[in-house]
Amino acid sequence: RAAAEQQMAHESARTIDDVPIEVCANVAGQEEARAAFDAGADGIGLMRSEFLFMAHAQAPDQQTQRRSYQQALDAMGAHRVIIRTLDVGADKQLDYLSLPSVPNPALGTRGVRLMARHQALLDVQLRALLEVRPLDRLRIMVPMVCDAAELVAVRERIEALAGEMNLDGRPELGAMIEVPAAAVCADQIARVADFLSIGTNDLTQYTLAMDREDPDLAGRADVLHPAVLRLIDLTVKGAASHRCPVGVCGAAAGDPQGWAALVALGVDELSVEPARVAAVKAGIRRLDRAALARALRGWLDEPIDSVTLRQRLEQWLNET
Ligand code: PEP
Ligand code: MG
Repeated sequence: RAAAEQQMAHESARTIDDVPIEVCANVAGQEEARAAFDAGADGIGLMRSEFLFMAHAQAPDQQTQRRSYQQALDAMGAHRVIIRTLDVGADKQLDYLSLPSVPNPALGTRGVRLMARHQALLDVQLRALLEVRPLDRLRIMVPMVCDAAELVAVRERIEALAGEMNLDGRPELGAMIEVPAAAVCADQIARVADFLSIGTNDLTQYTLAMDREDPDLAGRADVLHPAVLRLIDLTVKGAASHRCPVGVCGAAAGDPQGWAALVALGVDELSVEPARVAAVKAGIRRLDRAALARALRGWLDEPIDSVTLRQRLEQWLNET
């Protein structure tokens, strides 16, 4: 079966009831982008640009960054590439940034919140991104957005820099939905975003107040907790009211039961590890989205925990 799945990996995937789902790949850098293309990914759903920053003793200059971002686009043929702006703080530190040491770094100045303090650093990154060609294959994604104003601030910065650079085109700009506040206000954020991408790793951590790195909680910090699924449902509905596409780039997008719940909830795109692309596309081709959506609503109408929900999903996927 794996060989057959591999053969189909480069074709786009639709559910049995004809819903197209893009299956993209998460990559750390441009080297992995090649692997993503070879694996059949429909694009890059998340390039974590912080790895480029963590690989250097100083912040990489504009040219170094541009080269890396351009290589990622070049590796992906005609497909689109989502590059996330610097997401450090919390579990990822940069020696040269001297972030203050605070008792709860996960709740501190991280992701887009760094912009106020390190505007120059982010300007260099945005300029490097705006130098990439073709710009209509690039999408810029902002991590840890809490409200629409944070995304608007980044868009204004892009406008100012693109103006200085005399650019005609603009890349699309999207927000990660990985803070419960952003999921609750997804309709407002969708009004000012070209796309949304749900970061289920952080969304699960912050919704359940369970540290994603804590081994004692690993079994319980599950995206299939009904509270997390309700927030994802809210995000999809909020985005739909503005015709804003929604992807998922957290680990749930590639997990054996998680991807199916996400598709049932109505997301348009899943971004997974390159090695999971073929299997997830194969699963989509076997899925009756509407039927699973009905079943899922029924399960979520009763008191249910993530363990039971996972079992039901597993059984449903095996039987259909
Ligand atoms: C997430 O939080 O789900 C996500 C994709 O971002 P990261 O894992 O890099 O925090
Ligand atoms: Mg995150």
